[in-house]
Amino acid sequence: MLQELVQTTLDKKIAEFHAHEINLFDFGRESVAAAHNERLKKAIDNAVVRNDRGRQLKLLELPDSNKVRELAGAIKQHTLDHLDYYLTQLAENVEKRGGHVHFASDGEHAKKIILDIVRRSGTRRIIKSKSMVSEEIELAHVMEAAGLDVVETDLGEFIVQIDHDKPSHIVTPIIHKDKASIARLFSEYFGTPYNDDPESLTRQAREYLRDKFRKADLGMTGGNFLVAETGDVITVENEGNARQSITTPRILISLVGIEKVIPRLTDLSVMLKLLARSATGQTMTIYSSIFGGTRKAGEKDGPEEFHLVLMDNGRTEILKNPEYREMLRCIRCGACLNACPIYRKIGGHSYGSVYPGPIGALITPMMRGLEKNKDLPNASTLCGACYDACPVKINIPRHLINLRRDIVRQHISHPVERFIYRAYAFMMSTPGRYKLASWMQKRSLRLIRTRDGFVRKLPFPGSGWTQVRDIPAPAAKSFREIWRTRK
Ligand code: SF4
Repeated sequence: MLQELVQTTLDKKIAEFHAHEINLFDFGRESVAAAHNERLKKAIDNAVVRNDRGRQLKLLELPDSNKVRELAGAIKQHTLDHLDYYLTQLAENVEKRGGHVHFASDGEHAKKIILDIVRRSGTRRIIKSKSMVSEEIELAHVMEAAGLDVVETDLGEFIVQIDHDKPSHIVTPIIHKDKASIARLFSEYFGTPYNDDPESLTRQAREYLRDKFRKADLGMTGGNFLVAETGDVITVENEGNARQSITTPRILISLVGIEKVIPRLTDLSVMLKLLARSATGQTMTIYSSIFGGTRKAGEKDGPEEFHLVLMDNGRTEILKNPEYREMLRCIRCGACLNACPIYRKIGGHSYGSVYPGPIGALITPMMRGLEKNKDLPNASTLCGACYDACPVKINIPRHLINLRRDIVRQHISHPVERFIYRAYAFMMSTPGRYKLASWMQKRSLRLIRTRDGFVRKLPFPGSGWTQVRDIPAPAAKSFREIWRTRK
């Protein structure tokens, strides 16, 4: 009875927290603030440009990287088109190997399944490796609120956890932090003198985490891929913490999105050729772990109890729309974030979701609702850099345009925006109106230009533009006027 009461209160708090967070989120306000933060822009730009260059160089190692990307995209698309078949095959194979498979319809359902497993097993000490899907449902917060001793073991995620922060990049969660802020945090958290030497900071975290690894009864991972024909889960990482989470504790839970399945183990080689290259410019990550089922007689490590939680949480909404299904090919490499000029200027927190950047601008509105996230599909210059970078060839710009179309069709854009576009269409519909509009625009902008030929401040609604950018003032003579003189 008491447990039920605690659970109900907890569920309410979580729902209130999410509702509050969604209501508060304002992309315009967040992105303008971030665009003014020079320190943030520099930190992000340095890291993502390095990773983006690394990706381009590493892809040159492949004989024909374009063909490999096409193949990877085709494998993912085929699996998505037959997802029911491959999920059934995967579940059968996991169960044959002694594992338990749970299907979670949404985040709340997944949290309930996981908390039930934890409560039933009587465990309290949990080690968790990095997983975007658990960030998506804020699993660690919920476990902490339930009184469990849960620790993120990926160094970046550990820093996010002890700072009560949020990741700002899919692959490198603390891309927005500099070493001084991490040193201050460690000094406060561990009660030690300030020391900003990266090696000492890493050693300090490692010593703390080593003890947690030794004492944990339950490990939690995500999964980069799931292989249907074998029932394997694959994690790739550089620190070895996911491998520790898999091998040391008595119980293992892997929480994975349903779209992560691929048909065969041979398909994995195609995916692994691209994932690390696209993410961090590495040929391979340091650790690639392939696991599944429970520990067999004679095996030295592995869990006695294994649970695979397959979470939907809005994914079937994307799946059932053939126009948008391709979005689920995503292997969360972060290459589109690294290539995106908008992400480079505003960072990940501005997107109000654990999935920032171009892919976040697609899947967040699809999973959380277009009306609440209608600014995100507009957070793009449509330059196509994300499409060029994507290892599974998701046509991100096309989907962004289609989402913008849906915003118009559903009449959910801002009334001022609708008025502006209607006025624009009216003025552009005849040569006479176009001429008049260009003349008025030229006159008014030239009137408010500064001496160096820029317009720095526009009245509403143009003020949104000049908040973070200048506009070159129009030339004294328009192209039409010059053309007429030459004739
Ligand atoms: S959309 Fe493509 S580039 Fe972006 S994270 Fe997903 S797989 Fe990587």
